[in-house]
Amino acid sequence: SLKAGIVGLPNVGKSTLFNAVVENGKAQAANFPFCTIEPNVGIVAVPDSRLQVLSKLSNSQKVVPASIEFVDIAGLVKGASQGEGLGNKFLSHIREVDSILQVVRCFEDNDIVHVNGKVDPTSDIDVINLELIFCDLDQIGKRLDRLNKGKPKDSQSKVKEEAEKSALQRIQEALLDGKPARSVALNDIEKDSVKHLCLLTMKPMIYVANVAETDLADPDKNTFLEQVKALSSDLQSGHVVVSAQVESELTELPLEERTEYLNSLGVSESGLGNLIRATYSLLGLQTYFTSGEKVAYEDFVSAGSLAAARDKGLLRSEGKEYIVKEGDVMLFRFNV
Ligand code: GDP
Repeated sequence: SLKAGIVGLPNVGKSTLFNAVVENGKAQAANFPFCTIEPNVGIVAVPDSRLQVLSKLSNSQKVVPASIEFVDIAGLVKGASQGEGLGNKFLSHIREVDSILQVVRCFEDNDIVHVNGKVDPTSDIDVINLELIFCDLDQIGKRLDRLNKGKPKDSQSKVKEEAEKSALQRIQEALLDGKPARSVALNDIEKDSVKHLCLLTMKPMIYVANVAETDLADPDKNTFLEQVKALSSDLQSGHVVVSAQVESELTELPLEERTEYLNSLGVSESGLGNLIRATYSLLGLQTYFTSGEKVAYEDFVSAGSLAAARDKGLLRSEGKEYIVKEGDVMLFRFNV
């Protein structure tokens, strides 16, 4: 399944956010027939109001929303790439995820120690990203050495290795310039040639700005957020605003009191939904529904039933080359 790793300096709110994600997932656990929750792994459904509407219209027995596995990767600190502490182990966990959520502290609280003495998103992001860059540089250095020493078996592998070398040299340059591997323009062959290295800075990243609850109503007043926004667009990434504290408090409230609490903070929705949706779209995923035959969601809902949609000629049959569009409702036919 799809994995999103939560990273960030100590005391920025990672565990608080992760626990809120997990509590939220537990509440929905009934929807996940195969869901197992490990201590640092939580599975969450992608909230989509369309799903409830569909399951009513098509009398679905089972509603299985799209889901993401969140992995709490604690312990990424300055020096991790140099093997200080347990850093290396954590870096290898990051290698396994499909996307990275970097939690950035944007709240002031004198009772909660900041590892570098003060709240400073730009510097915090630099620390984390440099560790990832060091790790990639190390790996690329070793790989280039091997490519330069070895002799390709045949002309085909020679072409491949040349593509890889050229890609790696350009990535190396970008990294030395403080830029992530994902910022380097590669053609399809080059992209493919470096895939096996699972470079950390190639993975899509979302910066999760953890703001104070009083900032939720008007996050742009938070000057730390400005820094996060600027950096995230510079570094080809996305950003989402949450208050980990609020998310954690929400999970302790009965459902009917949650909206009231959110409204009292001047917002209508929990930030977790945004985070989950942003992660999902960052991974380049689209939502499709399996429910009846293939028909677009809007058409299906306006027709009111599958039979009505069929009468209106809205059903289509598609082959295996069909590229799924956002909101398609599909029935998969298997040849047996
Ligand atoms: P981690 O080390 O990044 O996993 O950070 P934790 O989630 O353990 O949080 C460290 C401390 O900061 C805990 O005492 C949290 O209660 C507190 N904390 C987390 N998020 C917020 C927040 O949004 N506002 C405030 N004031 N405190 C927070």
